Amino acid sequence: MLFKIILVFLLAMVLIALIGRALFPGALPRVMQKRRDPPRCGKCGRYLIGTTTCDCGGKAK
Ligand SMILES: [Zn+2]
Repeated sequence: MLFKIILVFLLAMVLIALIGRALFPGALPRVMQKRRDPPRCGKCGRYLIGTTTCDCGGKAK
């Protein structure tokens, strides 16, 4: 019985997610959207996470 309730709940969640995606394709949370490349150093090409300047003195592109 409990398993059935959980299953129905999960199905409802999936359905809501699918409907939401169909209706509001631009309203997805950022993690679900297609990821852009993280900023990279223009000099050495290292990924810059949480900063805009690199250790080598370069700046993010
Ligand atoms: Zn660099």
